[in-house]
Amino acid sequence: MIVLKSREEVESLRKANRIVAEVLVRLSEVVSPGVTTLDLERIASEMIDARGAKAAFPTVPGYHHALCVSVNEQVVHGIPGPRELKDGDIVSIDCGVVLDGFYGDHAWTFPVGEVSDEAKMLIDTGRIALEKGIEAALDGNRLHDISSAIEAVADEKGFSVVRDYVGHGIGRSLHEDPQVPNFGEAGTGMKLRRGLVIALEPMLNAGAYDVEVLDDGWTVVTKDRKLSVHFEHSIAIMENGPEILSVL
Ligand code: MG
Ligand code: MG
Repeated sequence: MIVLKSREEVESLRKANRIVAEVLVRLSEVVSPGVTTLDLERIASEMIDARGAKAAFPTVPGYHHALCVSVNEQVVHGIPGPRELKDGDIVSIDCGVVLDGFYGDHAWTFPVGEVSDEAKMLIDTGRIALEKGIEAALDGNRLHDISSAIEAVADEKGFSVVRDYVGHGIGRSLHEDPQVPNFGEAGTGMKLRRGLVIALEPMLNAGAYDVEVLDDGWTVVTKDRKLSVHFEHSIAIMENGPEILSVL
């Protein structure tokens, strides 16, 4: 079931998402060689607490952290731990919060120190894919106009789009309908309407799109162990176009 949001609800979602944006901006300053993924988790948890919000991901049964931190070939759902980031790594940080019953969800991939040209290109392409997806999120467009816009950016650079994980509606639940794939045919899918709030989250792989889950039951990695990036914004489709909620 798709729940369209009122302007007031969108403003509540903006408050939650702004906290996530603050967390990721801070973490972008902290990411550097020698920092552990658990260091990032601690900073995020403190910031979320200090703002009177709660981490959203522990609402997913079996998951106990505020962040997912995925390094290099890890696509999503990496569990924070003692792993130290190294020069040349790329790190995808995904954070969700709930504030007054409304959820925020936002992710970004950062370079650690000096990274390869391929990593730089993949990061840039992932970010641009998200931007193009957002631009297609217009009242009256179709859902897969977003998907197709994202896929086209990846295709152009010879990267692939993960198929097993998709974007989603967001509101009083972290994951609501509709699912928003990062691939698809323009002009198809449900009609986008004002008040639809969705988290767009393209995951782009340097190699093939196939992924698998490690034995920890969470960490998703590329099957070919090539690099992957993840960029996510929660956005509201409004009368004057898409509004990005997960920004400062
Ligand atoms: Mg997320
Ligand atoms: Mg999400």
